[in-house]
Amino acid sequence: MDVTHKHAIEAYVDAHREEMLALWREIVDLEGRSEELDALRLVAERLRSAFEAAGVDCRLLPMGDGAQDYLTGIWGADLPGKPVLFCGHYDTILPSGKYGPAPFRIEEGRARGPGVLDMKGGIVIALYVIKALSSIGFQERPIKICFVSDEESCHAHNDRAGEVIMSEASGCLCAFNMETGRINNDLCVGRSARVSFHVSVTGVAAHAGNDFAAGRNAIAEMCHKVLELEALTDLERGSTVNCGVIQGGTVANAVPGRCDLHVDMRFLRQAELEKTVAAAQAICAKTYIDGTSTQCSYRVAMPAFETIPGVMELYELAKEVSEAYGYGSPGKIVLGGVSDASYLTMAGVPTLCSFGVRGEHNHTDEEYAVVESLYERTKWLSALFLHLSDLQS
Ligand SMILES: [Zn+2]
Repeated sequence: MDVTHKHAIEAYVDAHREEMLALWREIVDLEGRSEELDALRLVAERLRSAFEAAGVDCRLLPMGDGAQDYLTGIWGADLPGKPVLFCGHYDTILPSGKYGPAPFRIEEGRARGPGVLDMKGGIVIALYVIKALSSIGFQERPIKICFVSDEESCHAHNDRAGEVIMSEASGCLCAFNMETGRINNDLCVGRSARVSFHVSVTGVAAHAGNDFAAGRNAIAEMCHKVLELEALTDLERGSTVNCGVIQGGTVANAVPGRCDLHVDMRFLRQAELEKTVAAAQAICAKTYIDGTSTQCSYRVAMPAFETIPGVMELYELAKEVSEAYGYGSPGKIVLGGVSDASYLTMAGVPTLCSFGVRGEHNHTDEEYAVVESLYERTKWLSALFLHLSDLQS
């Protein structure tokens, strides 16, 4: 493998360490939970100006009242090759102000602050890959960006997320989702879909002593259904059905007239998702105790990031580049937690996820990222761009 540009890329990144760190600090300090539209506006504007200064033609796409604008853009629109997409999100999961003003800090090589790992570091990497490639005269292909504002809420108040991400990805050679990097350097090559399934049984409430026979026990009806729903789990296919929350009844001496169940389902394959949801609906349509009735509803919180053909080839290339440039040998992993990478593979675009800074404990107070990984991954990804024409598909 030709590593001609290795030193130029490394020199560029090393010369910009302070600047990269300063931007990381700035956007972490701005915080911005998915619902905090005003805080997110400031993050979006700051990122837009940073990407525009790097020559990216940016647009803020309005998403309606439920979500802040998505930041999209293209660098080198006139270049000949198929574009490559950097994807990610600029919202965080914890409410702003929880850690006081200016929460970004560094302790013993670890950066801390809300979103430092998940995934503001990854956005800084994307920006500096573009800048490092520009600095060595890269002219092979356009580079696109798509950073959403509401990934942490699974786009709960915005119906257009999937459509927008898929349209930005459409026609791209490949994509990198700049999510939370694994501490051990594994790249993520697949993720489960997540479905929230809700079941509600209505029975007939009655006094358990005086009027037992008139009652129709909603909890008992639900129990039949719980066992059948749980049996839809198929670990070999990567499909799980977890009846996680059940609520019913009021007092022990009344036949319960109502029972509610919240189920979390995960699937590695979209086809399994469709099949299992249909089976769950059939279970809900069946009545065990006459006089009860059952309603069900579901929401696909996130589709599956499937390991489509091309994902493993991209992983193998990323690994080969890492080894050839002396950056180590990354492993691979399939995760149960969801991300927007699912929309990238649904658009048919080979994708690697978790290419952001490495760290641990996202979504908790203990979230941290390894500072050095900001520079290491910028170097690695910049190098990878120089070899993407080796991809066969
Ligand atoms: Zn994330």
